Amino acid sequence: MDSFIYTSRPGRVVFGQGKVKTLPDEVDSLGVSRCLVLCTRQQVFDAKKLTDLLGDRAIGIFDNATMHTPVHITEEALEMAKTQKADSVVSIGGGSTIGLGKAISIRTGLPHICIPTTYAGSEMTPILGETVDGQKTTRSHPDIQPAVVIFDVDLTMSLPVGLSMTSSINAIAHAVEALYAVDTNPVIQMLAADGIRSLAEALPTIRQDPSSVSARTKAQYGAWLCAICLGSTKMALHHKICHVLGGSFNLPHAETHTIVLPHALAYNASSCPQAMEILARALPNSDGDAIKGLNSLLDKLDMPRDLARYGMQEKDIEIGVQHALSNAYSNPREIEEKPLREMIRRCWAGERAV
Ligand code: NAD
Repeated sequence: MDSFIYTSRPGRVVFGQGKVKTLPDEVDSLGVSRCLVLCTRQQVFDAKKLTDLLGDRAIGIFDNATMHTPVHITEEALEMAKTQKADSVVSIGGGSTIGLGKAISIRTGLPHICIPTTYAGSEMTPILGETVDGQKTTRSHPDIQPAVVIFDVDLTMSLPVGLSMTSSINAIAHAVEALYAVDTNPVIQMLAADGIRSLAEALPTIRQDPSSVSARTKAQYGAWLCAICLGSTKMALHHKICHVLGGSFNLPHAETHTIVLPHALAYNASSCPQAMEILARALPNSDGDAIKGLNSLLDKLDMPRDLARYGMQEKDIEIGVQHALSNAYSNPREIEEKPLREMIRRCWAGERAV
């Protein structure tokens, strides 16, 4: 076995159906008593359930969490936290709301309890992406990671099937890149494989029957493991391309990940045989070929395959290539302009990854 470094990231996780009811106990354990609850406009109903649970421990709801964590929205929430004398934040929602919780927490030191309702995985990472005038910057600091995460399957039951599928493939992408990350290690590879396996088993059932509690629980467990992978390793080509294309052409986050993943994998395949082997074992119907297994899963879930449908134009391919080449990042295979261009073209056109 090769030598490696493994850093575990502290953080408390409470997992299980109905566990949202433990929120008041978790708040008390942190020694806080004035929680500002954060949500998007679409999840005010869920946020109200939390304020009912919290009673006097809740000082209000900020309901304007927004995709890509715009700093002017964070400033509005900070103002509310200050005037209401909040001593903690509770975020309920997907990556957008969790991002707002992180942005408040890192600026103020207020502890952050997080209740994820998608599979995107921000809750387990020390990473925060924020936007000012449409420009996204990302930073990482251990204090960004939420103090407590409560995973309760009941809160994911309303997640629309489409978003359930794409945010799960987003989660699988974290684990795939962790398998071949420059700082991967056997512990992370074990978590990645189990995370991918759990999601790949659960998704076809969720697609058929979104009300399946057991499938949703398995998906949430898988997403948690994949999120640990995201928070523990350096992501590579796939995440870079998604960041560049999503940011440059305003493409939807989870859908972009879903379309790019098989192509990024095909680009890297020859340079990471061990990762491909682990992945092939984790994916059903792979017959020992990870790309075949991933294509088969995406077909079964009837996932979108082309970025053109989200407004990316053919002329954008070149802009994407130049942005993707503009700064260095670790990747198992060297980033070469010509194959990169072909890869982005295939993502745009919706051609199959081979
Ligand atoms: P999201 O948070 O943007 O949510 C999308 C929509 O779905 C929102 O309107 C939300 O209110 C709604 N929604 C969420 N859960 C629901 C539920 N259970 N039922 C009904 N509606 C629900 O989507 P996302 O994919 O979770 O997050 C994407 C964002 O998170 C991106 O900005 C991405 O960059 C960020 N992200 C960050 C990290 C990180 O580590 N920093 C990791 C992953 C994603």
